[in-house]
Formats: sequence, structure tokens, C-alpha cells
Amino acid sequence: MKAFGDDDTIFRDMDVLNPNEQTYQPTDLPERTEELDQIHSALRPATMGSTPLNILVYGQTGQGKTVSITLKTNQLQEYADDADMDLTVVHVPCKGMDNSYHALTHLYKEIREKRLGPGEELPSGYQRKALLNMVLEELQEIGGTIIVVLDEIDAIGDDDYILYELPRSNPNGVRLSIIGITNDLQFRENLDADVRSSLGEDEVKFDPYDANQLRNILSRRAEGALRDTHFRDKIRDYEHLESEVLSSDALPLAAALGAQDTGDAREAIRLFFRAARFADDNGETTVTEAHVRAARDFLEQKAVESGIQTLPQQKMLALMSTTWHISKGESSVATTPIYTQYKKMCDVEDIEPLSNRRFRDRLNDLSDSNILTKKRGRGRGKENKYGLAVDVATAVENLPQKNERYGEVAEILRKQVEMGN
Ligand code: ADP
Ligand code: MG
Repeated sequence: MKAFGDDDTIFRDMDVLNPNEQTYQPTDLPERTEELDQIHSALRPATMGSTPLNILVYGQTGQGKTVSITLKTNQLQEYADDADMDLTVVHVPCKGMDNSYHALTHLYKEIREKRLGPGEELPSGYQRKALLNMVLEELQEIGGTIIVVLDEIDAIGDDDYILYELPRSNPNGVRLSIIGITNDLQFRENLDADVRSSLGEDEVKFDPYDANQLRNILSRRAEGALRDTHFRDKIRDYEHLESEVLSSDALPLAAALGAQDTGDAREAIRLFFRAARFADDNGETTVTEAHVRAARDFLEQKAVESGIQTLPQQKMLALMSTTWHISKGESSVATTPIYTQYKKMCDVEDIEPLSNRRFRDRLNDLSDSNILTKKRGRGRGKENKYGLAVDVATAVENLPQKNERYGEVAEILRKQVEMGN
């Protein structure tokens, strides 16, 4: 067994490469200078005794939206504290909240906690309108300039009540600004015109990072995180990065892989972090291209596994019926036998099977998410064939447990796989 403290390490401060924003927040975002300036311009009225503008921030995930807003509101807070200005910033992460009511309950709790300290409960049992009024009363209680950040507000879907009401609520004695952040570009398009014009007084768009930008982002974080890594000159881009512990191709590869996907900085950082950990855990002294490739395979495998674990019910059954055939030694199976097996499983679980046509849609969804492979049937009446994109053991391990929904069918499958071996 390894003993703590014995190992040499390539890390100086591992936290700097940690993609979790609770662990590390960058304070330098040169790739977002323009966006930061736009946010600055919208918030600046606060320093002049006026109301900061509402902002709608949009762009795909991992583009630095949250970190940019946090950076600018923190900066404004520091200014306000120095200038004895009355400023309160409330940040509400709305991920997983499926409607305006839900978001309002969390907003209410956050505002109360700003005023009274942690430990407030979520309100429940109120009418929507009453809840909104409670929020407004709390805002008036605090007074001064208040910025409410509704992060990942796309979670509320079509139910835009909170976005309609808050920007036009005018609580007494409050200069209120709402910042809505969305990862879903369609959400912005679909917003009601009134909401769009009041919330989107200013709109700030975050375009996806390209490979160059990702390289620079990774190199700054590598500089902070890895031993003996530093910029040769004052120029802080990757071409000027020197390191004893980093081979020259590792970082560009991680950036290129990240850009291929969606230019998501979080994913690129996660990939590079994993590669550096692989090297370090093996006691190696440099992070190389091979570590980056191994990290990519590892993360892809993890993504498929958690994809399987969280499949909705019908897709889960579609996967299980395919796995049933594959576990008997076939490498791919036509739609009809899979469908037949699926109907038997529905029987065991006592549920109504989907039509053949809709069932085929589920199989295709699974192949789109890289859980199944698909061979298109060529010619008239030829069926598609499906196989597993992961090995049988991986599929079976991630199926529901005995006491969960469909656990019984999963158990039968597991037994069959054991017997086959
Ligand atoms: P979004 O809100 O757009 O989904 P985040 O602001 O949460 O994205 O950023 C995702 C991750 O990438 C965070 O860990 C953040 O620190 C990091 N990140 C994003 N942009 C940059 C940048 N320009 N420089 C350094 N790190 C960045
Ligand atoms: Mg975010």
C-alpha cells in the first residue's frame, strides 16, 4: 500500500487545474475581455447612483459565463464596500428547477439568507403571486442596489413568469437589476417579446472557444498547477510556456480535442486535469500526449456509464433487450428479434410495450448517444442491426439494481451473462 507523503509530485497547486468552481475561480480571463467590458458597462450605473441594467447572457455551456458574471459582480461588490455603497448580489443557480415557482422559492431563500444568515427554509404552500410579493418585500427590506443573478435560467422552460414579473416589479427604494444566464440558445429565441426586451436591455453573447483560446486557458491553469511550469516571457500564451513536467504536445492535443467537441472550457480542463493526474499517480515526471489520450478514453467510458445509469425507462428496456441478445454471443442483432425480446421484458414488468416504430426510435437514440452501435440495413426490407458500443460487462454493471425499477429483468440478464462466462 502507498503511504501518504512519500510520493514525488508534478503538482505545485493541483487546485488550479480543478474544473470545480468551488475549488478554484480564475481571476484573469483575457479571452473574454469584450464580454467583460459589456458586463462592466451594464453594471457601471450602480457606481453613479443609478440602476444597473438588466442583462441577458447567453452561450453554450463551459464558455465562462458564470465565472465572468461572478468576477464582475465581485469586483463591483469590492468597489461598493470601499465606497460605502449599499449593494447586494444574489446568485441563484436554477439548474434542475423546472418552473418559475421553483426558481422563486430558491430566490426567496437566498435573499432571506443574505439578510438573516444561513439556515433559511424553502417556502412552500404559497400561491405564485403571494410568493412573488414575499420576494419583493424581502428586496425592499434589504434596499439599496440589488443584483439578482438567475443562472441557467433556461431550466424553467416555457414558464417565464419570474422573468416577466421581476424586471417590471419596481420594489420601493430598490435599484433592481436582473441578470439571466442561459446555456440554451433556443431559450433566448423562444422568449416572449416583452420578456426579451425588459430582461435583455443588454445582451451579452459568449461564442464557443476555439482551439487557440483553449490552449491559452489550459496553459495559464497549467502554469499555476504544475511544478516548474512558467512563461518564458511576459507573453502569457502557450507558445511561450516552458516546463520540465509537460511535454510540448500534451497541452495542444487536449485543446484540440476540446475544440473538436464544443469548445467547452470545463471539458478541456477536466481532460487535462485527468491526464496530469494519470501521470502523477503513476509516479511519472512528465505529462505526455499518451496521458491525454488515456484521459480521453477514461472520460468517454465514464460518460457512457453514467449515460446508461440515467436512461429513461423505455430506453433502458431497449438497451436491456439488445444486451440480452449480445450476451449470447452475437455481435449485432436485427431490430425484430430485439423487439420480440423487448415485448417479453415488458410482459415481465407488466407494462404496455411501445409500437415497433417508436421502439426503433429508441434504438436509434441509443446509438446517437454512443451506447449502441448501428449498422444500417441496405436494400428493401433490410433491417438495421444493433450492437453494444461498450462491452457486455460494462453494460450489465450499470443496469438497475435488484430493488430498483426493472431490476428484476436486469438480474435475469446478469445471471445469463455469468452463466455464459
Ligand atoms: P459557463 O457558465 O459558460 O457554463 P463557466 O463560467 O462555469 O462556464 O466556466 C467553465 C469552467 O471553465 C470553469 O471551471 C471556469 O473556471 C473555466 N473557464 C472558463 N473560461 C475560462 C477562461 N477564459 N480562463 C480560465 N478558465 C476558464
Ligand atoms: Mg454557468
